[in-house]
Amino acid sequence: MPFDYLIVATGARHSYFGHPEWEQFAPGLKTLEDALDIRRRLLLAFEKAEVTSDPVERERLMTFVIVGAGPTGVEMAGAIAEIARETMLRDFRHIDPREARIILLDAADRVLPVFDVELSRKAEEQLRHLKVTVQLGVSVQDINAEGVRTKDSFIHARTVIWAAGNAASPLVKTLPGTFDRAGRIQITEALNLPDAPCIYVIGDTALSLGKDNKPLPGVSPVALQQGAHAARNILAQIEGKPLKPFAYWNRGSMATIGRHRAVADVNFAKFSGTLAWLAWVFIHLVFLMDFRNRLSVFLIWVWSYFTRDQGARLITGKK
Ligand SMILES: Cc1cc2nc3c(=O)[nH]c(=O)nc-3n(C[C@H](O)[C@H](O)[C@H](O)COP(=O)(O)OP(=O)(O)OC[C@H]3O[C@@H](n4cnc5c(N)ncnc54)[C@H](O)[C@@H]3O)c2cc1C
Repeated sequence: MPFDYLIVATGARHSYFGHPEWEQFAPGLKTLEDALDIRRRLLLAFEKAEVTSDPVERERLMTFVIVGAGPTGVEMAGAIAEIARETMLRDFRHIDPREARIILLDAADRVLPVFDVELSRKAEEQLRHLKVTVQLGVSVQDINAEGVRTKDSFIHARTVIWAAGNAASPLVKTLPGTFDRAGRIQITEALNLPDAPCIYVIGDTALSLGKDNKPLPGVSPVALQQGAHAARNILAQIEGKPLKPFAYWNRGSMATIGRHRAVADVNFAKFSGTLAWLAWVFIHLVFLMDFRNRLSVFLIWVWSYFTRDQGARLITGKK
């Protein structure tokens, strides 16, 4: 398909730091299909734990390891803890889901390393309230069907989830340019490619530098603002006007951990707990497309809040 101007925004996938073989044992969460697969593994682990008569196997089935304590890993650990300790309380006869071990591992020395130190501490505190075992300064050496090997130990676990690394979508490698370690392509301040000014690359696939000369984070506000800016620059190019440099307006960062548990760093304040959680809920609703979506998601969330997601236990997908 020939083009005059092209915007490439193909996002990112997981990166297993040179160990693609780990993916089969430790899926990551990027798409709806990934989410369904993770839900299937999680629910099946509890079902198998319920029917096994081997206590060692039961313990392995009820051990969940999440690798990577960034926003996705923290959210995942909090969600699994809530499902085990609250949602599924009355579902089983032989096992007590509250006994599930949820282990969050990271090589860094704190959770949410891109957040302020105090908010990292608060997030860790909230995870510990949910009885998530947080292991920091631990780098993963191997993942297989039996569990996770770290430098000092082996954690036996039948469910491992990967939330540790991202790599730009491989499509971007077909473009001319230079790439960073995460496979992102270096773009100009105007968001196009130095050697192909009619091609714009934005969002998670692009290596775009902020005011402090550091790469902009792979978050949706960056992608959204770059989308609008690329469109304006293409119009300027068509009209023969000069291109404007992109300036990211950072309105802050948030991470949710569970019900009433979140941390927020907005430019004028840092807070955590219920207020941060409400802010997170509000912002995620406001940014949904069209009113009907907002209303239906709002109603589903209110329903889930009061029923504690009692209906969402579908095991779908392959055997
Ligand atoms: C689990 C999770 C939670 C997140 N939570 C937050 C959050 O709370 N706040 C936040 O700001 N950010 C969050 N992010 C990050 C945010 O989703 C991304 O930064 C943002 O979506 C990047 O936008 P993008 O347009 O670059 O890529 P994407 O939104 O990933 O879109 C890329 C699109 O390109 C398509 N595509 C890929 N390859 C091809 C191809 N070869 N041909 C055609 N189409 C292709 C993909 O199917 C996809 O639809 C989260 C991400 C994940 C995975």
